[in-house]
Amino acid sequence: MKNCLVVDDSKVIRKVARHILESLDLSVREAVDGQDALIQCEESSPDVVLLDWNMPVMSGMEFLQALSSARIETRPKVIFCTTENGIGHIKAAVEAGADEYVMKPFDRETLESKLAIVGVI
Ligand SMILES: [Mg+2]
Repeated sequence: MKNCLVVDDSKVIRKVARHILESLDLSVREAVDGQDALIQCEESSPDVVLLDWNMPVMSGMEFLQALSSARIETRPKVIFCTTENGIGHIKAAVEAGADEYVMKPFDRETLESKLAIVGVI
């Protein structure tokens, strides 16, 4: 079973994402910010990270930068989540190593297609 790490400071978003991802037969872990996510990736690398942009402690961008120099066996695919207001982040995120992006609020169909694009499902 493939593993997805959901990184978001919103408990509601994490719950929604978990529900969708589990319905796609992925096993799900959660992180509350970039730092939490980085620690979890170093312990055991997930297949894919669903990454929020705006978070306290360590943002999505800071996480991407830290991930590129982190000691992990296999780099996870990264799908970052942005809002319509954050469309300007897409270029920066891709340059920092994100594989795909998804607009919030996302639904099952959108998330499924993005996971297929990065080759996780
Ligand atoms: Mg957030």
